[in-house]
Amino acid sequence: MSQPSPLHRPSQRRQTVTANVGGVLIGSGHPVVVQSMTNTDTADAEATAIQVAQLARAGSELVRITVNTPQAAAAVPEIVGRLREVGLEVPLVGDFHYNGHLLLREFPETARLLAKYRINPGNVGAGQHHDANFATMIGVANEFGKPVRIGVNWGSLDQSVLARLMDENARLSSPRSGTDVMIDAMVVSALESARYAEKLGLAHDKILISVKVSSAPELWQVYRQLAAECDYPLHLGLTEAGMGMKGIVASSVALSPLLIDGIGDTIRVSLTPEPGAPRKLEVEVAQQILQSLGLRQFLPQVTSCPGCGRTTSQFFQELAQKIQDYIRDTMPDWKARYPGVEDMQVAVMGCIVNGPGESKHANIGISLPGTGEDPRAPVYQDGKLLTTLKGPRIAEDFQDLMERYVEQ
Ligand code: SF4
Repeated sequence: MSQPSPLHRPSQRRQTVTANVGGVLIGSGHPVVVQSMTNTDTADAEATAIQVAQLARAGSELVRITVNTPQAAAAVPEIVGRLREVGLEVPLVGDFHYNGHLLLREFPETARLLAKYRINPGNVGAGQHHDANFATMIGVANEFGKPVRIGVNWGSLDQSVLARLMDENARLSSPRSGTDVMIDAMVVSALESARYAEKLGLAHDKILISVKVSSAPELWQVYRQLAAECDYPLHLGLTEAGMGMKGIVASSVALSPLLIDGIGDTIRVSLTPEPGAPRKLEVEVAQQILQSLGLRQFLPQVTSCPGCGRTTSQFFQELAQKIQDYIRDTMPDWKARYPGVEDMQVAVMGCIVNGPGESKHANIGISLPGTGEDPRAPVYQDGKLLTTLKGPRIAEDFQDLMERYVEQ
């Protein structure tokens, strides 16, 4: 079979240095890292530790917490202690805005326990305070050997950089669009801050960068521009992606073209939580984006058909859901349990029209009996008919076959 076109496969990763964030390696030599952020009041150490644990157990390899007040900064040692009590060592990233220079100096134990500091050059202070406050934070990072993320966000862009670039643009014979100047300003702000951090003694491989916007086309433009101008690892995310389906689709559309082009070394999907929805949804979406692009596999990949008039009973949907839930709930550690298994595709199909074909392409697949068909469900394994299931325990019997297949 010929190789798929490079247009349809992720290309080589953009080459970067590797940053070590509390033992998690970020850069082109390593898989794209999934991260997330809590939305609890960090001063509430118990609630924050519970949410960090939920995110980490869902697959967040780093978790960022807001450190915005002395109470929040003071809570960090208790949060770390609570996580260690339940055996979790997930690296915590401190998100600092406005007063990070004060909090990092005032709370050295917190500075020591955090795995990385996020610094927003747009709100560390204006004029000479900007450089002094930024230098204080970099000084603490140097003291404790911590990496930093220079996190530019266009909602809080450094106004002095923007004003400078606007002035330069106004003097051009053919001025560029306001959006282009804004994007330039984000890249310049990030890179000037990174260079200043290096001048202050921070090692090149202790710097990561993000330049987040809330529209996909602008995200592509700003990250491509940034990627061409440096070899720092990039944290990729569509900021303020929105709620529910809109946020999931917007994030997937925004991140995928960049990831396909090898841009992005760690990702966060920023979803506005729907009431009652679990925070871990954004971790699952981030994992699914990487899995759908073939960049990482977190769980066996399930292919299931949409169903149609041939599957009028609820049986098919229920069975597809049962198998998906079973995989998510019982197989998150499948790679550890079954070393050497890198990739697994499972097909759950509604009838024999496309069922056997899809099942043969998967490692293991089942075609359910459609309406009016003989109530039997053929199971294919590695392209060959393995058995035909029937009776009320088809889902459970298929789960046993999946487990047995992976064990083999
Ligand atoms: Fe319908 Fe069968 Fe196609 Fe599924 S495989 S969509 S049930 S025809």
